[in-house]
Amino acid sequence: QAKHNGRGWYSLFETGMDQSISARHALETELRAALAADGLALAFQPLFGPDREITSCEALVRWNHPERGPIPPSEFIPIAEQSGLIIPLSRWVLHTACAAAAEWQSSCRIAVNLSPAQFIRGDLLATVMTVLEETGLAAERLELEITEGVLMDNTERTLETLKQLRGLGVSLVLDDFGTGYSSLSYLHRFPLNKLKVDRSFVQRMGADPSARAIISAVVAMSHSLSLAVTAEGVETLDQFELLRAEGCDTFQGYALSRPLPASQIARYMRDHGKAEPGGHPEVGTRA
Ligand code: C2E
Ligand code: MG
Ligand code: MG
Ligand code: MG
Repeated sequence: QAKHNGRGWYSLFETGMDQSISARHALETELRAALAADGLALAFQPLFGPDREITSCEALVRWNHPERGPIPPSEFIPIAEQSGLIIPLSRWVLHTACAAAAEWQSSCRIAVNLSPAQFIRGDLLATVMTVLEETGLAAERLELEITEGVLMDNTERTLETLKQLRGLGVSLVLDDFGTGYSSLSYLHRFPLNKLKVDRSFVQRMGADPSARAIISAVVAMSHSLSLAVTAEGVETLDQFELLRAEGCDTFQGYALSRPLPASQIARYMRDHGKAEPGGHPEVGTRA
């Protein structure tokens, strides 16, 4: 029971603070241990063309905590970013994803998410070159997903890095387009290959005609700038048909395939050269 004097409130407040800071710290320590002990995994979510052929797969990091069960990336990526762990974690993701793709009996590309911290550090180009060499993956099969935040700060140096990555033959994808503040005319300055329209637009499309108009306009402008467009978060076949009619080039979402565990992806790639409908449940995560 809280005492209504200054001291009582104070100590309650401090206790609460201590708990959240120490919980965060514990998670960071455990994440570091998981990374060192091979305790992280990748899931792979296929992306499809208009005829439902697989065009690429996105690598998504997974952490199955021994006591707490699966922890979503939205919870542990921010902790990794604040603690600097994101650098070795991202290196692990890139290497593991490229090594997996190099084994597939398919020319399907592999998409890997980058963190803004990797641009700030300045050795991203060298890391990508080393990983391609280590895994033997052709640069043309790698897509790197960046967010608008990366483009907004440190523009000149970022632009230089992006040009060098393109020079290797790697593709550059702008993820979650529409959630930040950049306009298509601003994005034109960057050597991007593809935009992924954020799933919030796809979700609103059925009920809100303006969301559909936005997608339509984004597709038209992207194509005139020679950018391909991916729709993410496609959860129903109705959405898939609408987005296809709007001219989107590739499609990602539960209606087409859930993220698949690493143990299933190689077989899926072999069996689904032409993709089939249906959700394949992602084993062992809450996604
Ligand atoms: P993202 O890059 O936009 O990845 C797509 C997210 O949408 C994934 O969530 C995926 O499981 C989910 N998704 C796919 N289809 C659907 C759908 O039809 N409906 C809905 N509601 N969701 C769908 P996930 O795996 O939880 O990842 C969340 C975010 O965490 C990613 O968003 C990305 O920003 C970040 N992330 C994941 N893996 C990595 C990584 O290896 N490195 C970095 N830096 N970030 C990562
Ligand atoms: Mg992504
Ligand atoms: Mg995305
Ligand atoms: Mg997203």
